[in-house]
Amino acid sequence: MATCGLVVFDTTLRDGEQAPGFSLRLEEKLRMARQLEALGVDIVEAGFPIASEDDAEAVRRVAQSLQRPIVAALARCAPNDIDRAAWALEPARRSRIHTFIATSDLHLERKLRMTRESALDAAVAAVRRARSFTDDVQFSAEDATRSDRDFLCRVIESVIAAGATTINLPDTVGYSTPDEVAEFFTSIIGRVPNADRAIFSTHCHDDLGLAVANSLAAIGAGARQVECTINGIGERAGNASLEEVIMATRVRADRLPYDTQINTCELYASSQLLSTLTGEAVQSNKAIVGRNAFAHEAGIHQDGMLKDRRTYEIMRPEDVGVLQTTLVLGKHSGRHAVQKRCEQLGYELSRQELDGVYRQMTTLADTQKNIADTDLDAIIADVCGTPQRIAAEVTGTDSAGYGFGV
Ligand code: MN
Repeated sequence: MATCGLVVFDTTLRDGEQAPGFSLRLEEKLRMARQLEALGVDIVEAGFPIASEDDAEAVRRVAQSLQRPIVAALARCAPNDIDRAAWALEPARRSRIHTFIATSDLHLERKLRMTRESALDAAVAAVRRARSFTDDVQFSAEDATRSDRDFLCRVIESVIAAGATTINLPDTVGYSTPDEVAEFFTSIIGRVPNADRAIFSTHCHDDLGLAVANSLAAIGAGARQVECTINGIGERAGNASLEEVIMATRVRADRLPYDTQINTCELYASSQLLSTLTGEAVQSNKAIVGRNAFAHEAGIHQDGMLKDRRTYEIMRPEDVGVLQTTLVLGKHSGRHAVQKRCEQLGYELSRQELDGVYRQMTTLADTQKNIADTDLDAIIADVCGTPQRIAAEVTGTDSAGYGFGV
């Protein structure tokens, strides 16, 4: 299957940073921005300059600091917003002004108290003004997926005619389903007469846990830019998780043939840095970057992993920057994993001794979650009488690359 290019627009520092508990100071934003550059994202949305002096300054510093990615700044469809974004982006080697206005009647009537016509005029004027500063202008129709289809098509056609080069159609409130998103993008791209003059973009929220599935559906229907964040952070339940979207395209390239510039070996480091900077832990069962994403405790799984890792792993931990698979000794572990760890610790046990160690290990594991190496030492000393370690060096990893974590 022929592959096609997909633009990765990272909004960790804008939508992500807007989420409660995730705000970053200037130096922290800069560190994260540099990591995003190492990761290989195409566009770093650095902030919303009109929102505060600090945000404007942070965008400016990010724009100064990055070499390869395009730096984007958000602006409402208002002259002051556009001008402030343009100021913040001045030092960038490549810059994008990202302007947005809501297009759904609900947002127009209840939030903005604007008519459709005045929203359309504001959108066109904002894109024109943005184009006077840079030839890379993105327009987002906020709440696009709940907007009147005819009106939305008119807005898109008009802003493309006014110079918008990327059209982002967000599922702002995470309400859509994958089949709906696919139909939505197919219909819009088919109906807007000048659609071929812009790149269409998807920006999905995870309120129903569908952000990644919806993003992939949009890409399947012709979107060529995906907006996402590290660890899936963002407003409310968050945005589509960058690591999940990217690894889906790598692991399932047979079904999702989309090329990006992402260096997947930097995924885990990016996730960890964000978690450290924000003080917000990554949930342990988070796909790709969670603590348990490459950990196995069940005996049947551990046995399979020790025989052939492909039995229970669809990707290699090192491909996302995780050092090794972890086999956790706990009450679900089997004899094979216990034997393996005893060997790694330098013990040579007879079959009978191993039986005794295994029995005591499972008893202890009923009262404590994980079994540490020191627990194993104590059990072995008890079962075998004297300390039996014979190897001078204890390693955490065997030749196949499996580590035992506790
Ligand atoms: Mn958003």
